[in-house]
Amino acid sequence: MRASIAQHGMWLTERLGLAGTSYHMPLPVLLDGPLDRDRLVDACEAVIARHEVLGSACRELDGTLHLVPAPHRPAVELAQVDDVEAFLHAESVRPFDLAEGPLIRCTLAALAPDRHLLLLVAHHLVFDGESKEVLLGQIAVAYGGAEASVEDGFAAAITAQTAAIAELLPAAREHWSGWRAPAEPSLPGVRPSAGVTPGGIVDLRLPGLGPAAATLGVTTFELLLTGVLTLLHRYAQAAAPAESPRTEPPTVAIELGTRPRDARDLIGLFVNELPVTAALTGDRTGAEALDIVRDRLRETYQVRPVPLSHAVTGLTPRAALAPVSLSYRRRRGGDPEFTGLTARPDWSAFHHAARNTLHLHAVDEGDGDLLLRAQFSPDVLDVSDVERIGEHLRALLDALAASPEAPIGELTFVGRVERKRLLSTWNDTERPGTGPATLAELVAAQVSANPEAVAVVDGDRSLTYAELAAGADAVAAGLHRHGIGAGDLVAVCAPRDASLLVGLLGVLRAGAAYLPLDPDYPAARLAFLLDDASPSALVIDGSVTVVGERVGVPTVVVGSVSGDGPAPALATEPDDLAYVIYTSGSTGRPKGVQVEHGSVVNLLAAMRETIGTGPGDRWLAVASHAFDMSVPELWLPLATGGTVVLATRAQAMDGEALLKLVRAAGITHAHLTPSTWQRLLDAGYDEPGIVAVAGAEALPLPLAREILRRSARLLNLYGPTETTVWSTADELVEPLTEVTIGRPLANTTALVLDAEGMPVPQGIVGELCLGGAGVARGYLGRPELTAARFVETPWGRLYRTGDRVRHRNDGRIEFLGRADDQVKVRGYRIELGEIEARLVAHPAVTAAAVTVRDDDLVALVVGADAVGSQLRKHVAEALPPYLVPSAFVLVEALPLTTNGKLDRAALAGLAGRPLAAEDPAEPAAYEGLSLQVYEIWREVLGHGEIGPDDDLFDLGGHSLTITKISARLRQRLGIDLPLHVFFEQPTINGIVAAAALL
Ligand code: AMP
Ligand code: MG
Repeated sequence: MRASIAQHGMWLTERLGLAGTSYHMPLPVLLDGPLDRDRLVDACEAVIARHEVLGSACRELDGTLHLVPAPHRPAVELAQVDDVEAFLHAESVRPFDLAEGPLIRCTLAALAPDRHLLLLVAHHLVFDGESKEVLLGQIAVAYGGAEASVEDGFAAAITAQTAAIAELLPAAREHWSGWRAPAEPSLPGVRPSAGVTPGGIVDLRLPGLGPAAATLGVTTFELLLTGVLTLLHRYAQAAAPAESPRTEPPTVAIELGTRPRDARDLIGLFVNELPVTAALTGDRTGAEALDIVRDRLRETYQVRPVPLSHAVTGLTPRAALAPVSLSYRRRRGGDPEFTGLTARPDWSAFHHAARNTLHLHAVDEGDGDLLLRAQFSPDVLDVSDVERIGEHLRALLDALAASPEAPIGELTFVGRVERKRLLSTWNDTERPGTGPATLAELVAAQVSANPEAVAVVDGDRSLTYAELAAGADAVAAGLHRHGIGAGDLVAVCAPRDASLLVGLLGVLRAGAAYLPLDPDYPAARLAFLLDDASPSALVIDGSVTVVGERVGVPTVVVGSVSGDGPAPALATEPDDLAYVIYTSGSTGRPKGVQVEHGSVVNLLAAMRETIGTGPGDRWLAVASHAFDMSVPELWLPLATGGTVVLATRAQAMDGEALLKLVRAAGITHAHLTPSTWQRLLDAGYDEPGIVAVAGAEALPLPLAREILRRSARLLNLYGPTETTVWSTADELVEPLTEVTIGRPLANTTALVLDAEGMPVPQGIVGELCLGGAGVARGYLGRPELTAARFVETPWGRLYRTGDRVRHRNDGRIEFLGRADDQVKVRGYRIELGEIEARLVAHPAVTAAAVTVRDDDLVALVVGADAVGSQLRKHVAEALPPYLVPSAFVLVEALPLTTNGKLDRAALAGLAGRPLAAEDPAEPAAYEGLSLQVYEIWREVLGHGEIGPDDDLFDLGGHSLTITKISARLRQRLGIDLPLHVFFEQPTINGIVAAAALL
């Protein structure tokens, strides 16, 4: 007998090993009472024999599946059972041999003198939900002694069905044209899945669903399906970024019965799984949503028997058509009656496989309540996640039934308990402030407590707290002499040595706030910052050549002023500014974040609480003071009586040099970006005494494991500049299986909100919004930008981070990436738009996009054939080194999305012509050793536009470039230069000169 198209598809899926045990259909029946065993065995075998299909095996003939009589007819086996659960499980998952058959097996076991278990397990190829009722009903009748006269019309039914499919095929092709497999939906806590896996079940109850449907004038199934689709829609909306709130419409695969109307007593595969997609929007009412779903269902019924794989070309065999599926079957009548026995069948017995992310299986007994058995993989969802989905579904259905005229976007489905957990329990971080309330006072307290303790170490130099304070007071006095004090902003430009701290503390002790300027930035960038922030004064180190006069503000040189003025007033309040730190701006203009003393004081107290640090601790400081990671590095030790050990820029970029410093200086706490941690590990870091702190970008699990293995402790800190460096923390401990960003710090709230600013359900992705003591005053001189990101909410003033996160069930927060184009490259926060704006300012460039490849910035430009070196110079003149792309590629055009925006996802694969070396106008005049060095630089940098005095970092070099260059110099030329040389003299001439000294 030729198999049906549906059977053929299922068989293919089995043959490809994609089904697991998901096509096994167990039907256990408990029989209580005095059983006539022989009579039952006879009844079973007689009924099964009547249905030829159950006794078949699969045979492939000419590429099509045929069902042939199996060599062995199905027979009832008698079994000895001790552990019923274990027996049911083992029998349900025991493989079928499809080629050998038969496709049903039948076991009878005595559990007690008057209790028996009859277990029927059939393969879905020849069975379905309704077949269970047919089969058991006929067995009961046969057991009762009646002679059933059922004719097996299976073959005829298949022929008729095949004809119907052929007739409906054109309509089905039309209906499914453009169909695409739905993406994984957003579900609470869901993790990526890997095909069919052993599964678990959770029973979800939906009381009163039948009466509710009747009141609404729809069927129970229509109401249930609408509820599931609406919930998926709401979950997706919660996760949608505010910038592009349109989400893919929700899809649920459903099972439709295809049994011929006149052959209800057939056993076989008479269901067809088909996807239903409903274009729901939040403004539709519940009643409208029901109409939409009902219309979609009616359209689908038109093509009901046609398997999707038949109507859609190129659809490969798969165990499920959609990540979420729903099977609903209304029972035909009561349970079958076995004469003299009480029979209790389990109509929803489980096959122990998860064939997709979530399968909801409902058998409606018609009593008004509905039991939904959720099948899922424990690898993909936790039991508590599935239970919560059930609670959400129940609440949503209740809300929809209660107010069918309310928009579905406004139906409340997150219960009170969950809301409380999200909003208060997990944000119960309030701690009273104790001690000094400003940063300057915090440091002053340590100066009085330990004047002779070492405050700062830089190279061979060190300053005690008393010396640091004296130097700072001199700076403060200098500023006071110019009338600078509380409320003023003072730029501080100094290299990374002790004078920097003297300058910074001096500004604070004058009562003013500091604006850090990194002397390594190009003059144009420094000029922009001075212009944008317009500080009232400038504090510089003698070695810095920033043109103070050009700024036209008073300048104080560190160390040049005598300190015997009046004692500084420290006239600051917690809500006075402590510093203004700039971050990359997406439109090309960086923005200054204004941070108040109270925020810094809270951060330091919170870090002290989480990390635990005090006198005697030695903190490694590597971050440029232009970045806020420097804030804890410099001020936490000084606020707690410890010592700041300053690394030079060269040390900060070179793992070996940094490790040497770590060991020589007796570092106890290292606070580094994951990129810097990687460099340290590569250099051989293994310091079981050190407290390791990582932050500023995602910390990969393998790296976290390595750091933890080689350190005393490891903390992952998370936070944007706008909420004062760090806002959440997680202590990572063995055995480390995942990295999260943990929980909010003291006096900090971390809420996960949707595009409308409403809390998203636990485990659903949303935007992390931060509140509490760390929230900055706003962006300097940018009221609109401030209003857009710092928002007033029912939960206080929050900063919208743009980070996509979700709550784990233990309350810790998982970081999943960005909702916008901001990136992190080696720990630097970069708005690609800022670089793009600079690129298009070049006359030869008409359009530009910047993308990240292998942790490097690559500029893709459209326009005249501009030479790479010109573009590089053009960018490096205006932007700090970390914003200069390492490669420039000329492309025909930039990929656009359907609505005409830059398609960033498509940039990854975009090819073009690298803009490189061959600029005939600038022949490199190298010879001898400098030519050999030049060749190596050219190879490693990927372009040859290198002047003898061009700075490697301005040319797109970074630490990896340097290690490559140094290795090639060593291998090819036998020149073994210490790495720090490359940081101190990063030019070809510099390297040649250093080599000459060897
Ligand atoms: P910044 O203002 O430079 O501190 O950058 C803040 C951004 O860096 C955040 O919004 C995150 O996108 C990212 N970030 C900071 N810390 C972490 C972390 N521990 N894990 C993942 N991303 C982080
Ligand atoms: Mg940060």
